[in-house]
Amino acid sequence: MAFKTDIQIADEATMLPIEEVAAKIGLEKDDLEQYGKYKAKISWEAIKKIDKENEYGKLILVSAISPTPAGEGKSTVSIGLTQGLNRIGKKSAVALREPSLGPVFGVKGGAAGGGYSQVVPMEDINLHFTGDLHAMTAANNLISACIDNHIHQGNALRIDARQITWKRVIDMNDRALRNVVISLGKKADGFPREDHFMITVASEIMAVLCLSENIEDLKNRLARMIIGYNLDGNPITVADLEIQGAVAMLLKDALKPNLVQTLENTPAFIHGGPFANIAHGCNSILATKLALNTSDYAVTEAGFGADLGAEKFMDIKCRMSGLSPDAVVIVATIKALKMHGGVDKKELKTENVEALEKGFANLRRHVENVKKFGVPAIVAINRFADDTEAEIAKLEELCKELGVRISLCECFAKGGEGAEDLAKQVVELIDEEKADFKPIYDENDSIVDKVNTIVREIYRGRQAKFTTAAKKQVKKLEELGLDKLPICVAKTQFSFTDDKDIMGAPTDFDIEIQDVRVSAGAGFIVVQTSNIMVMPGLPKIPAANKMDIDNDGVITGLF
Ligand code: ADP
Repeated sequence: MAFKTDIQIADEATMLPIEEVAAKIGLEKDDLEQYGKYKAKISWEAIKKIDKENEYGKLILVSAISPTPAGEGKSTVSIGLTQGLNRIGKKSAVALREPSLGPVFGVKGGAAGGGYSQVVPMEDINLHFTGDLHAMTAANNLISACIDNHIHQGNALRIDARQITWKRVIDMNDRALRNVVISLGKKADGFPREDHFMITVASEIMAVLCLSENIEDLKNRLARMIIGYNLDGNPITVADLEIQGAVAMLLKDALKPNLVQTLENTPAFIHGGPFANIAHGCNSILATKLALNTSDYAVTEAGFGADLGAEKFMDIKCRMSGLSPDAVVIVATIKALKMHGGVDKKELKTENVEALEKGFANLRRHVENVKKFGVPAIVAINRFADDTEAEIAKLEELCKELGVRISLCECFAKGGEGAEDLAKQVVELIDEEKADFKPIYDENDSIVDKVNTIVREIYRGRQAKFTTAAKKQVKKLEELGLDKLPICVAKTQFSFTDDKDIMGAPTDFDIEIQDVRVSAGAGFIVVQTSNIMVMPGLPKIPAANKMDIDNDGVITGLF
């Protein structure tokens, strides 16, 4: 029997009108700004009315082992878990990131879960959705247009055209735009200079939107964003250009969280999707808080493995917002653990208990790390069709030895029913082990000390080695008084080290820091281990080549 594709399953879903989904979590029709029948934004009036910190439900973060090309399924398990919680009678909502068009047409495919654990309408969510990313693109490019116009009109701020760090964006994988020359032509066309495009989700605007709690906060953060430096080397901000009001205005709707539903009609807030390397990789604080205020169990997710995603969730998002996680679900797959144990990608379908045992070291380290934040953890095995009974039994035994709960999660194949055990265990875990959340470092420590704490405590390396250039950048941030901020490490997600090919649980390594810069609006310091890809390219045969739409509007090939 051929398996149904994600889009076939999604198309067969019986969606409820969005006001009925909203009613499940106490939201009224008036609280919604509807975008058609199945999508809505939550109004400011409703957000203000609902926002009561003392009425939060429990916060569950879904993270994962170090990712491999074999795939882990964090979004799928997050959606499955929220469906499972609702099935066992617990009021639950999920808060997730919204997809970018770049990866949709590239290799990865959609970001709306998979199998019987998806959010719908999946076509809309994966395509233009409610226009948030387009608004962010416009907001970002308004700043770019104003920078070049300012220079053209006499450059009163003495912006150094060689030190403009603000880049233009587009929400597409388009390698041709990585490096461009702008303002070619006549005198009236401006001063020619080199510029660069990033994908919209890599923009600081996206990170700012996800960390802002209201319009005032958004505007203040936008004002602080540094667009480059003047001829004396001092930072120039959006406030210097006097356009924070206009930029915030362009984002007025994008800042409101979106509500949709899962395949089992449970509520899903999908809002914001910053890159998980140069930004913090979590959905918006507003969406997470809405899920917490309207449900008893809010499930959310953070990009990449727990060394990057969970660490930034705790040290950046929770620290800034005052959120406090009650439990972390660490998603692992048997296939990925075998890869961490040295098995070649082509051999993953063959049973290999020995490699699984070896690869378990990666999972063990992530479990231990999560506990260092004072938050209890549970392992969810995202079951794939090829996993064997012997492999599953071995993994259960290893988790037992480690003293961590484990649940076999079949939510891809069975929806919420396949995550009922995970849901029950998460509820028990939260009841039995009270979280005592604390970030891993003090933000008032020096930049070098903060990075070293992450390297030693989370990656388990010896130390961070700063290049000469990076040391200079640290000194400059200290002089500017911008050093007492949380750290956002940009590192390969595939390894605890800065070398993507070293899998498992390596020790005795250093992490080389090549670049240190501040995202002053977002409020964190980006620490880069190597060049970060901020504008992905398309593969030889893009996913776009398989997609189509017929005369009735029926879409095929979107996963
Ligand atoms: P992540 O959030 O970790 O990036 P996703 O949940 O988006 O992962 O899943 C990645 C891909 O793997 C999706 O296309 C999804 O349909 C698929 N997938 C997830 N879990 C399973 C599973 N148990 N069996 C088969 N495919 C799966």
